[in-house]
Amino acid sequence: MPEPKLWIDGKWVKSQSGKTFPTFNPTTGEVIAQIPLAGQKEIDMAVAAARKAYPAWSQMLARERSMYMMKVAASFRKNAAEISRLETLEHGSILSLAEHVPMVAAEQFEWAAGRAESLMGDLIPTLKDTLTYLKREPVGTCAIITPWNHAIIMMAVKLAQALATGNTCVLKPPSVNSLLGLKLAEVMEQAELPPGVLNVVTGPGSTVGNALAGHPGVDLVGFTGSSETGKEIMAAGAKTMKRMIMELGGKNPVIVLKDADIDAAVNHHAPRQCDNAGQHCSGAGRFYVHQKVYDEFLQKYIAASKKVIVGDPADKKTFMGPLANREHRDRVKAYIETGVEEGATLALGGKRSTISPMNKGFYIMPTVITGVKQHMKVAREEIFGPVSIIMEPFTGEEEVIALANDNSYGLCATVWTKDIAKAVQFTNRLHAGTVNVNTQVLTNDLPWGGFKESGIGKEGGEAGMLDYTQQKMVCIKIG
Ligand code: NAD
Repeated sequence: MPEPKLWIDGKWVKSQSGKTFPTFNPTTGEVIAQIPLAGQKEIDMAVAAARKAYPAWSQMLARERSMYMMKVAASFRKNAAEISRLETLEHGSILSLAEHVPMVAAEQFEWAAGRAESLMGDLIPTLKDTLTYLKREPVGTCAIITPWNHAIIMMAVKLAQALATGNTCVLKPPSVNSLLGLKLAEVMEQAELPPGVLNVVTGPGSTVGNALAGHPGVDLVGFTGSSETGKEIMAAGAKTMKRMIMELGGKNPVIVLKDADIDAAVNHHAPRQCDNAGQHCSGAGRFYVHQKVYDEFLQKYIAASKKVIVGDPADKKTFMGPLANREHRDRVKAYIETGVEEGATLALGGKRSTISPMNKGFYIMPTVITGVKQHMKVAREEIFGPVSIIMEPFTGEEEVIALANDNSYGLCATVWTKDIAKAVQFTNRLHAGTVNVNTQVLTNDLPWGGFKESGIGKEGGEAGMLDYTQQKMVCIKIG
């Protein structure tokens, strides 16, 4: 593998300090590569390059920028095999997911290319003898800071929206997925994006990410990650009143009513809770199941969870690979132990495996914890792993709505019922940015974003594109 370098102003550059940090294979725990650690000098260079590129990029016709976006999409497709290989190597993604990722990234750019061209302004016929209109402009230079789950998709969705609408960007990928971040820079290089439009600097969030979030040359921070980090970034950006788009954590309630199709609910959630080792912001954070169907749900849910094949992500039979890094594996394990200490029951899993390769890598087996009470830490905090939290059964609908809303997060919620009127009542009363009934969907044209401490702004859909623009009112006296 060639020595990884930073991507600044259309050139591959070394970190002047010469310092590096390792990135690991989560399946084996082995070091894959040494990544350059960006210092303040490289961060300043990257921001300066993005600012220098901004006038030409922002004033380009939307149609011309869209053609670049289409070239980026084609470049993702051309690099699909290498991206998939890195997804499995550096993130532990199973093969089917790894193969899917570059296609999703390409689609993000194709969608943004089409949508950016149709972002129009409004003519306001409000004042006599004036021409008054509203137009959309890009915000400026964006710092894009992303998490390690679905790393390439997270980077691609933000960059597609930011770049297509005329902003220039400095990307800080998650440090544990730095190779994927630098691969994305290569994709952009091959698409011949003008120098400085995208820059990539690597390093830990606490230093490189924080320096970018507070950098006076950055106008907007597009962030996806935990709510705790989101708060730190908002504090760092407050000094220069930066625009913030925050896609944060969740503790998503899933409510199973007594008339629900239990098989459908189980067959959806049990595998999904182990998909990408449960590292989904939209994963089920806590299950509230009606007392009448509780035993049936639990018995079927545990049986379905036992069927999940855990193993080497490079093996076609594997459904669940490792967690993305050692620290996160230890964090998830600590949550399981806390749940038991607090009095909940470990009904399945909860352990690392003794079988190779799971004994060496960052694995946690599919885990089900039952008898969870509302005050317990495992009921309140995001775990972000293959762990299903089954709350004590409920009986009243008012009661379950109050329990579901009783949390600082508000990312998404899911309701299972055959009663359409009831479903609508629940969707009206649940405090979450997305509410699904008998399904869960997420596509490029749908806006995603949380209420409460789950975020500010939207990602995807027209709302997501608009968040990377600002509205200008123009009033011209003509009479
Ligand atoms: P994280 O908050 O630890 O890190 C996210 C990014 O922020 C990383 O690149 C990290 O290096 C950087 N960072 C860390 N500290 C920083 C600081 N002080 N200043 C600037 N940058 C900093 O999150 P994670 O563990 O990588 O990802 C998991 C979290 O992301 C979960 O909470 C999950 O719910 C959330 N997430 C949310 C969505 C969504 O759409 N709402 C999507 C995916 C993940």
